[in-house]
Amino acid sequence: MHDVFAELVGQDEPVETLRRAASAAARVVAGDAAGGGGMTHAWIFTGPPGAGRSTAARVFAAALQCERDGTGCGECHGCHTTLTGTNADVRIERSEGLSIGVKDMRALVLRAASSPSAGRWQVVIVEDADRLGERASNALLKAVEEPSPRTVFLLCTPSVHPDDISVTIRSRCRVVALRQAPAAAVADVLVQRHGIDPEQAAWAAAAAQGDVERARQLATDQEARLRREEVLAVPRRLSSIGACFDAAQAMVNSARREALDAVVETDAAERAALEQALGAGGTGRGATTAMRGAAGQIKELEKKQKSRSTRSQRDVLDRSLKDLAGFYRDVLVTSMRAPVAVVHGDIEQVSAAAAGKWSPESVLRRLEAVLACQDAIERNVKPDIALEAMMVTLWRG
Ligand SMILES: [Zn+2]
Repeated sequence: MHDVFAELVGQDEPVETLRRAASAAARVVAGDAAGGGGMTHAWIFTGPPGAGRSTAARVFAAALQCERDGTGCGECHGCHTTLTGTNADVRIERSEGLSIGVKDMRALVLRAASSPSAGRWQVVIVEDADRLGERASNALLKAVEEPSPRTVFLLCTPSVHPDDISVTIRSRCRVVALRQAPAAAVADVLVQRHGIDPEQAAWAAAAAQGDVERARQLATDQEARLRREEVLAVPRRLSSIGACFDAAQAMVNSARREALDAVVETDAAERAALEQALGAGGTGRGATTAMRGAAGQIKELEKKQKSRSTRSQRDVLDRSLKDLAGFYRDVLVTSMRAPVAVVHGDIEQVSAAAAGKWSPESVLRRLEAVLACQDAIERNVKPDIALEAMMVTLWRG
């Protein structure tokens, strides 16, 4: 692989900013105390889901560790170990649950304060900085306010809205705003890197709304295409209040199944590893005490797994709602004759028919209902309830 920044699709401006900062950082490492402009200790990466926030943080971390003048060559030891997740000076906090606790954050901050073992930078990536609890956020703030000379924090969050990141942390950081990648750029990647047929690539790129990974999935995975079709069939099915509740239930069940499929192997492997580590069998008083301790650890693991599965289910629902929002947006742009491309090109006739039937105001109400549902799920409202409320608005308009 060459040039780590090639991973960031359709993000020319942010890439330029990060390249300049990485080369300034390399000058600091080389002994130039000032290093030139552009490098700072704390960064925030924002952008819509799929825009590549965590990818941006990872490739920037690679460039910071790059031994070839911070170019992010993708080939040296620093780049390679960062990208494969084995660099001792790059730590990634990835929240598998719904929030990041203060204990994890304190441990992270403490380790981040040590000198980088390879003599370059100690990099801390927080992938879901919007999931920091208040106390975790305070622990991070202290570290960001008084960073060790060679420590860099890279925080990923959907936006710099105070709901996502505290105002004081925001004020200490430089913000890199990623945007939704243009469909053409995403399609190019599918064709060139994954050998996908150009027509299929163009369709998948538009349907994925700038999310490269989602586009690849739609272009290559039949199951993913079927699930998308199910979701896009929802508007046509809403013919009565009963149908609304059925549609909500079906969506919840399908998300639960998909989320379970996604975690079932990891869950089983983790449990087997823990049970083996704890050792099975044994008798006597010592064994009884050990078993009590073991039960506690197993309980802890079950808690973590449950939290991960809830999160995974919410992520699946979020993606389905994005597909649905794309449909109502298509109806709106069709009825307003807006000169923009539709998201779901394969069901253009359906959205055109809906545009002929519904007033623009009622389409807008439907679109807003989908966005409100996304928001409610993000704020931990029970998915069943959020979806039922949305379905009723989608039906009535
Ligand atoms: Zn390199």
